[in-house]
Amino acid sequence: MRTMRKTNKAGVILGLGMLLFAPRASFGQAPERTPVATTPHFAFYSDFDTNLNDALIAAGLAHKGGKPELFHSGDEVSCFGKLPPSARAAWEGAVGYYAEIISPADWSDRQQHLIRVQLAGFDEELKDAGARQFVEIARSFRAAATPAYKACRWAAQDEKNRRWIEELKSQLAAYEEKIAPRLEQLYRKRWEGLPIPADVVETVDWSGANSIIRYPAGGHLLISSSYQGPTALEVVFHEASHLLMDRNDPLQQALDSAAKAVDFRLPGNLWHVVLFYTTGEAVRRILDDGGKPGYTPMVYGIFDRGTWVGYRKALESAWRPYIDGERALPEAAASLIEALRKPAPPQPPGDGHPR
Ligand SMILES: [Zn+2]
Repeated sequence: MRTMRKTNKAGVILGLGMLLFAPRASFGQAPERTPVATTPHFAFYSDFDTNLNDALIAAGLAHKGGKPELFHSGDEVSCFGKLPPSARAAWEGAVGYYAEIISPADWSDRQQHLIRVQLAGFDEELKDAGARQFVEIARSFRAAATPAYKACRWAAQDEKNRRWIEELKSQLAAYEEKIAPRLEQLYRKRWEGLPIPADVVETVDWSGANSIIRYPAGGHLLISSSYQGPTALEVVFHEASHLLMDRNDPLQQALDSAAKAVDFRLPGNLWHVVLFYTTGEAVRRILDDGGKPGYTPMVYGIFDRGTWVGYRKALESAWRPYIDGERALPEAAASLIEALRKPAPPQPPGDGHPR
């Protein structure tokens, strides 16, 4: 008995050690990240672990909020019900962990950010032992959740991601070489570190897309396959535009100096509204010219919901001429600030989306 218990204990320790330190390939997942499609500016991925992480974040949130949750509602219920109790309990355990530790955090908070950079392969971001321990714990929970996800969800998710990428690829084939240089021209900056990695998943978060900037160059996009048609095209370029409009980049600088010149305090979210408007209108114009008229950029949906609507007039009168090539950047920035100063714009609550 005593020997048996000792062996069991050693076995448990070894098992945990394997979970924590084994390379990800040993979990039976995709051994390395290979893009599904690469274009001059983007490398699109349908990555197992990134999608599992996305599913666990969403399930954790749903679980906490008492909302319909993967494997407890929808098509996958019967598949999940047929799994061995150990695989089901392992999934539930992982959802429980995510619900408590990871899902409630914002995508830009440390918890989700660390996992994201690890999944993207940006290991330089895992700076200290605490960060590495954190991502290893999450990884071990994903390893536990892998059998259920693999058996009951991955094939359908992967197919959905690949269909989405395929559809976007045909839009990019038609418009990428027009939109990309136009954005570089408008933002007065060129992308570096191309192609930009873009992971396609089911949910992302409430906004459906976001991006992180990698220093000294590049970044990473996370995009929900729920965006369809030309909106998907705009979303991808919207997220990529974040890489062109960082704090010290030309457009931000132009807005900052125009505001400073007249001692105006820039509303904190103005830069993001300007980004939404600039990329959305650039995409709209190129679709128009390419024989696909009638596209409505996402920013108008945000205005229609009452968010940022106080900026609309100022953008249309003062900023649009810049997009149309009728006004230089410093003048456009100054005139935008002037238009915003006159009637104090209401501080809209909340945020637009995506980010
Ligand atoms: Zn954004």
